[in-house]
Order: sequence, then structure tokens, then C-alpha cells
Amino acid sequence: MSVTPDASRQPATAARDSGVEQASRFEAVIGLEVHVELNTATKMFCGCAIDFGGAPNVRTCPVCLGQPGSLPMINAKAVESAIRLG
Ligand SMILES: [Zn+2]
Repeated sequence: MSVTPDASRQPATAARDSGVEQASRFEAVIGLEVHVELNTATKMFCGCAIDFGGAPNVRTCPVCLGQPGSLPMINAKAVESAIRLG
């Protein structure tokens, strides 16, 4: 039993092209994902305070905890601040 290379699976032109020619076939698309903390007194989807410190899990509500049936309400100041950021 012998194994022969399958010519149809080889990139015939890529092996001959220079690196620049290969790179010219691609377009660089760069995206940025930015995480910021807006200057709001409450969380984004509920009225819980966002103060730091204190005991764990005291500033929570059904919305924060993702309990079924809880209805989030968007923080208008956060939306306004995000729009101002652009
Ligand atoms: Zn909450």
C-alpha cells in the first residue's frame, strides 16, 4: 500500500506566491470591544446601588440575580452617558 499526495487538496498557488502576494489577498478588519464603567449610582438594569465594599450579595434584587419573572428596567442615565460617549 502506498500513499500519494492528493494534488486537489494542496494549495497549488499558495506555495509559489511570496508572503506579500499571499497577504494581499486578505483584508485586515480590526474591531474593538470597549468595556467602561459609567458614572451612575445604580446598576444598568435595576435600582441596586453599585457601591463597592460591604458584605457580599447585599446589593442584589431579583433582576440582578436573574430570577424568572423579574423585569429589568434600563438605567436612563447610563443610556444617556453611553450616547454621549459616542
Ligand atoms: Zn438589582
